[in-house]
Amino acid sequence: MADAPKFKNLTAPKAGQRITFKDGDPVVPDNPVVPYIEGDGTGRDIWKASVRVLNAAVEKSSKGKRKIEWFEVFAGEKANEKFGTYLPDDTIEAIRHFGVAIKGPLTTPVGGGIRSLNVALRQTLDLYSCQRPVKYYEGAPSPMKDPKDVNLIIFRENTEEVYSGIEWKAETPEAKKVIDALNAVLAGDPATKNKKIAEAAGVGIKPVTKFKSQRHMRRALKYALRHGINDVAIIHKGNIMKFTEGAFRDWCYELATTEFREHVVTEDELWTKHDGKMPKGKILVKDRIADSAFQQILLRPAEYRMLVTMNLNGDYLSDAAAAQVGGLGIAPGANVGDSGAVFEATHGTAPKYADKDMINPGAVILSGAMMFEWMGWLEARDLVYKGLLATLKAKTVTYDFERLIPGATKLGTAAFGDAIIKHMG
Ligand code: NAP
Repeated sequence: MADAPKFKNLTAPKAGQRITFKDGDPVVPDNPVVPYIEGDGTGRDIWKASVRVLNAAVEKSSKGKRKIEWFEVFAGEKANEKFGTYLPDDTIEAIRHFGVAIKGPLTTPVGGGIRSLNVALRQTLDLYSCQRPVKYYEGAPSPMKDPKDVNLIIFRENTEEVYSGIEWKAETPEAKKVIDALNAVLAGDPATKNKKIAEAAGVGIKPVTKFKSQRHMRRALKYALRHGINDVAIIHKGNIMKFTEGAFRDWCYELATTEFREHVVTEDELWTKHDGKMPKGKILVKDRIADSAFQQILLRPAEYRMLVTMNLNGDYLSDAAAAQVGGLGIAPGANVGDSGAVFEATHGTAPKYADKDMINPGAVILSGAMMFEWMGWLEARDLVYKGLLATLKAKTVTYDFERLIPGATKLGTAAFGDAIIKHMG
């Protein structure tokens, strides 16, 4: 590959071309190079099954005209074993250069140890919008009475807020310096003079900016327009955190009612200007307090199509929503920026099932389907859906679904992948 960067420890495939970008959208050749990270723990089993399904979908849908040139890049435990680092520069460079990657889950220790590799990847590559569709696939086990009503996509801001990784451990000299400085600011302002941060506290910072909130909302509204989504809810906890979560809400509304003015009606305008009747072809933009959003998507899921959230709320909401339609085993995700995207499952490494050929690979396979959609390969995407739906309908499923579906047949990870390929027809 003529224009690939010089990697320290990697060799890019000779065949294949890179994806380029125009106005934040990918321009995709017929044989793109797609870097992949296998992932830790169950990632190994999942990737083996997923790559076969994805190749079959491309091959069958394009009758051999299209082909992905897979390029293994490393992160997590495998990278540390091979190169002595959890996230080699080569990996970042490869994803930056080729504009795309698909990855399995990576371990993140709680408390001390390395910071999240997933968060590092999203921040370094500026993949600012995390997209997590939550949809019911007939045959999947669900605790809901009417799971078909659940059909929404969560747009989670990916690069700032409490995930920015700026925190200080309690009772360290650094934490003390930060606390002393903040206490001085609090004491000097009449509005806050009675507040004080405890000397022994651990401290984290929650930066939220207009620029990052608005570019995220812009991507969400563009997606809504492209996909015919007519209801967008901004989720926040602005009643309590006024200058971070409240500001996020205000900036999102501001963007919607300026750049997208002709396409949107706010909930307020719906009642003050339209007598409660939604004008045809417009998108309703509303906002909901985060805690209420959790009960709303359980009790009235049909009223929600897109949730635009900040980082932490989106993380919580996407796992909770995934549980409504079959759990983490089939919850896909994408991290998208203006010059790249990384597709990944919502779930983690589920280490107790590693190398047991048990885990459900559905979430990575569906993340691959999201990648096909982003690439404009809609026929390949649809074949993945067709294969998965028919496999669920036949009640041939991995352990997580088998324990919830009466009369189901339990398949291992590899056999579940085979069944999807078989059902593509
Ligand atoms: P987890 O790996 O998501 O697993 C929690 C439980 O969810 C599993 O024990 C299993 O439940 C179920 N589950 C997860 N993936 C599944 C799948 N593909 N098929 C079927 N069931 C699945 O969460 P965790 O145990 O909290 O985290 C483990 C590690 O992963 C941590 O280091 C964490 O930081 C990391 N993590 C990584 C990512 C990422 O890479 N994007 C995301 C989240 C967490 P049952 O045991 O009930 O079957």
